[in-house]
Amino acid sequence: MLQLITNASQYLSNPAIVAENRVYSYHDLLEASAQMASLLLGDASDLQETRIAYMVTPGFDYVRTQWGIWRAGGIAVPLCTTYPLPALQYVIEDTGAEIVIASQEYLSILAPLAHEKGFRFIILGGVEDESVQLNPLPELTPDRRAMILYTSGTTNLPKGVVTSHANLNAQISTLVEAWRWSFSDHVLCILPLHHVHGIINVVSCALWSGATVEFLTSFSAEGVFDAFLKGEINVFMAVPTIYFKLIAYWESLPPDDQKRLSECMAKFRLMVSGSAALPVSVMKKWKDISGHTLLERYGMTEIGMGISNPYQGERRAGHIGQPLPGVKIRLVDEQDQVLASRQPGEIQVKGPGVFREYWNKPEATQKAFTEDRWFKTGDIALVEDGYYRILGRDSIDIIKSGGYKISALEIEEVLRTHPAIADCSVVGIPNEEWGELVAAVLVLQDSTLDVATLTTWLRERIPAYKTPRQYRIVIDLPRNAMGKVTKNDLKNIF
Ligand code: ATP
Ligand code: MG
Repeated sequence: MLQLITNASQYLSNPAIVAENRVYSYHDLLEASAQMASLLLGDASDLQETRIAYMVTPGFDYVRTQWGIWRAGGIAVPLCTTYPLPALQYVIEDTGAEIVIASQEYLSILAPLAHEKGFRFIILGGVEDESVQLNPLPELTPDRRAMILYTSGTTNLPKGVVTSHANLNAQISTLVEAWRWSFSDHVLCILPLHHVHGIINVVSCALWSGATVEFLTSFSAEGVFDAFLKGEINVFMAVPTIYFKLIAYWESLPPDDQKRLSECMAKFRLMVSGSAALPVSVMKKWKDISGHTLLERYGMTEIGMGISNPYQGERRAGHIGQPLPGVKIRLVDEQDQVLASRQPGEIQVKGPGVFREYWNKPEATQKAFTEDRWFKTGDIALVEDGYYRILGRDSIDIIKSGGYKISALEIEEVLRTHPAIADCSVVGIPNEEWGELVAAVLVLQDSTLDVATLTTWLRERIPAYKTPRQYRIVIDLPRNAMGKVTKNDLKNIF
C-alpha cells in the first residue's frame, strides 16, 4: 500500500542514497527499514495512529527511520534538526508523540525532555537499534494517516498538517509525471526534510522513481558546487535565497572555476525553485551562470505542489505556471464565487493530494475548506495568458490602502531592480486615514541612497499610491528556516 516503498523492489541494486561518502542501495533501504519497523513494533502488530517523531540527520538513517515508521503503520512526524528545544517541544507535545527517535548528535538536546515526558526514546546506532528480531509487518490501507508536517509558521504558529498515504501517493506521483523523474536521475538534497519541498519534491519523488538522492548534511555554497563538480548530479531544487547565495559565491570565483562550474551545470536535466516568490533578477542571473531557466512552482504543506511552470515549453519569469495534473485550481472572490479571467482572487484547491485535516484543530480545519471541500489557500493570484502569477498572501502581502489592494510582491520586484538595493521587503502598516500604508524595509548595497532620489526613481516606474511612505534600513531581513521573510516581525520595526 505504501507505493513509495513497494516500488523499491523494482530497483533493488540501484543506488538509492549517497551520504557521507557511502552509497546505499534500495535493497539496503528495504532491509534497514524493515528492521526499524520491527524495532518500533516490539510486541505490537500495528502502530496505527501512533505518532512517532524523529530528529535525524538527513541521509540513510533518515530514510530508514521514516520508512520504518510507515512500515510499522505509524504516523511520521519529522522534526527540524536545527530547531531550539522550545520549538521541538511544541511539535512533540502538539502531536502527543509516544515515541521519539534521534541521531546520536541530538541525544543531549532531547534526553532531558524524554526524561520529563516519559516517551519511548530510541537513539540510532544504540544497543536497541542494533539487535532486532524481524517481525511480520502490518497490511496498510491508503486512507490511514501517514504524516504530520508543520507549516513554516510564516503567518502564525505552525500548524500540524495531516496527510494520508493516499494524499502522499498523489502528491508524489503528480510531480514524478510532470517533471519526468526516472531511475537514472541523481538529485542533490540540501533542503530541510520537515517541509514538503525537501521530503516530497526531492527525496520521495526520487525514491519513488528508483533514482539516487545525495545528501549534504549542512549547506554551504562551496559544498553544493563541489558536489556538482563530481559530475553525477543532474537535478537540483532550492528556495530563492539559496540560489541568491550560490550566485554570490559563483561571482566571487576566479574565471576558470566559474567556467568549469557553468559547463557542469549546463548538463543538468532540471533545476527547480519554490517555497517563496523567485525574484526575476535571480532567475535571470541563474540563467546566465548555469544556462538553466529555473522551473518555478507553487505549493503548500497542505496541498503538496499545486501549480507549476512546464517541464517543456516556456517557463515564465514572475509566474508559477499552470495547475499540475490531477490538481483542480480556481480563483474566487471573498464570497468564494469563481472570478472571471484576469481578475485577481484567492487560489482554492481540490484534489487527491490535499491534506485531511490540521492536527487537533477541528475549527481551523473547518475554516480552511469551503462547504464543497475546496481548500482555501489564502494566497492571491491572477492569470495572465494562461500563466498564474502570485500577488501574495491575503493576510500580509496584499496591502489595503485607501480603497486599493496593493501587491507587496510587485513593489518588491521593482525595488530590487534599483542598483543601490541588495534586498527588500514591503509590508502594510496600520494607518487611521488610509487603513494601511505601504512601507519598505531595505538592505542597501550603496548606503548613500536617499529617500527623495528613490521616490523620484520609483514614481517613474509605479503609480504614486503604490510608492512606499516609510522606509527602514536593516543589515539583513528576518527569515524562517525556509528562507521566507517573516513579515510580521518586520511590521514591528515601524
Ligand atoms: P504558515 O502557514 O504557518 O503561515 P507558510 O504558509 O509559509 O506558513 P508553507 O506551507 O511552508 O507554510 O508555505 C506555503 C506558502 O508558501 C504558500 O501559501 C505561498 O504563500 C508560499 N509560496 C510557495 N511557493 C511560492 C511561490 N513559487 N511564489 C510565491 N509564494 C510561494
Ligand atoms: Mg500557510
